[in-house]
Amino acid sequence: MAYKISETDCVACGTCASECPQGAIHEGDVYHIDPDACIDCGTCADVCPMGAIHPAE
Ligand code: SF4
Repeated sequence: MAYKISETDCVACGTCASECPQGAIHEGDVYHIDPDACIDCGTCADVCPMGAIHPAE
């Protein structure tokens, strides 16, 4: 399992990408998490000011 960023809630601030210890978050129109690189630590979800990051189903 990996974490996932909600495209509707992400405002592309980049906070999560700078905090991810795996470098798993990449910029696009919104930010995206590489599920193969994510180790499920939850750091991004804790720092997101929009509450846009949640564990994937
Ligand atoms: Fe990176 Fe951890 Fe978020 Fe996965 S859960 S994208 S490893 S900060």
